[in-house]
Amino acid sequence: MMRLFGSNGVRGVANEEFTPQLAAAVAASAGHLLGREMALGRDGRTTSPMFRDVVASALLSVGCNVYDFGEIPTPALQYMVKSKGFDGGIMVTASHNPPEFNGLKVIYGDGVEVPRFLEERIEALVSQGGPEPVAWNQVGRVTHLEFLEEYVEAVVSHVDAEAIRGAGLSVALDLGNGVASLTAPKVAARLGCRVYTLNEDIDGEFPGRGSEPTPENLGGLRALIKATGASMGVGFDGDGDRSIVMDEKGEAVWGDRTLSLVAQEYLKEHPGETIVTPVSSSNSLEEVVSRYGGKVYWTRVGSVVVSRTMVDNGFNLGGEENGGIMYGPFLPVRDGCMTMALLLEIMARRGTSLSRLIAEQPRLYKGKTKTPCPNHLKEKALERLAQGVKAAQVNTLDGVKITYEDGSWVLFRPSGTEPIFRVYAEAAQRSRVKELLDQHVALIEKVVSELASA
Ligand code: MG
Repeated sequence: MMRLFGSNGVRGVANEEFTPQLAAAVAASAGHLLGREMALGRDGRTTSPMFRDVVASALLSVGCNVYDFGEIPTPALQYMVKSKGFDGGIMVTASHNPPEFNGLKVIYGDGVEVPRFLEERIEALVSQGGPEPVAWNQVGRVTHLEFLEEYVEAVVSHVDAEAIRGAGLSVALDLGNGVASLTAPKVAARLGCRVYTLNEDIDGEFPGRGSEPTPENLGGLRALIKATGASMGVGFDGDGDRSIVMDEKGEAVWGDRTLSLVAQEYLKEHPGETIVTPVSSSNSLEEVVSRYGGKVYWTRVGSVVVSRTMVDNGFNLGGEENGGIMYGPFLPVRDGCMTMALLLEIMARRGTSLSRLIAEQPRLYKGKTKTPCPNHLKEKALERLAQGVKAAQVNTLDGVKITYEDGSWVLFRPSGTEPIFRVYAEAAQRSRVKELLDQHVALIEKVVSELASA
């Protein structure tokens, strides 16, 4: 059976890999399996109106009623699905991918992306040609809804708005020409912040800095922080679930450092709770979390895996190292607006700058690279790696993660789509990261060549 879903939805270059026909088949199958009342939203991409129309038609054809929320950030649509009691939802988006891409995220009735077993059922149905359409007089109806205001209020109500309003904070937002423009400035203003924005026009070609915020392309945000004296900067991705944060000095903060700060403050009020994160996150999270009486639950890599682990176990806080905090009391999904609001709350309550708060967190350096390995040798190579290294700890939850006595670690993960391993490393010194990457790339090259000639 063909696999359509990647780590977060179905995606591809529009009209090449991701066609209107494929979008229709996935939407009809999802509607058939999830139920009659389906929410629909889209990001600001050039091809999103086209895919909105085929998705709506496909849902109607299997008897679903469609509630079209128009342009909306993914987490806001997810909130609507849960709070309004829809059976499910479909978000037309390719998240942070380049402008030529598009895709679908399929949302379950609890507001979180559908679990893997439902993805498999959708894939099976698509490969069988999709569900039968209903009779002409059973076709559903479309209703257009506008509920962004309600989402903005809901985010605001989940933090100590009084404290934030009293703190006199200001924020610089790089909206990346994405749909976070519709919500993030409003949330910040409602929390009493002075708001400065950049790339605020929604534009499917992402002319500002591209749709993925990275420390390298946030120079404009850094300049805006410097020019305005903002207390914090936030750069959002194209559909508003991921965000990269900058302190008041214009220093970009990695997602696992913001997560450890949020986890620390959360555990002060909720001692003993469990924080969920993938094995690619910093081991230092464990140090911070245990200091405040909490536990870390490690998962495989992927935001849906983290969200689903939270739902299944009733855990309230999770996050990923690439900039996505999941705050369960609101909704256990990545949400750039909620992340911004939580950080503002921490700054207001602690009465100190973001750079000082981040400086309290362990300082570790990270690096990432890739190295070739034929697909058929990946499994064997991982086995040899796990057996062959002398290390304090070897974790095989997702790929192989090797932790050394000094706390530094290396993670090998096979790519699901390319004949490569992704290699991640973390250590207390920058030079040690380079050394780890060089050593382990050499090691994997040796293992692969031995296996190839065996
Ligand atoms: Mg995204």
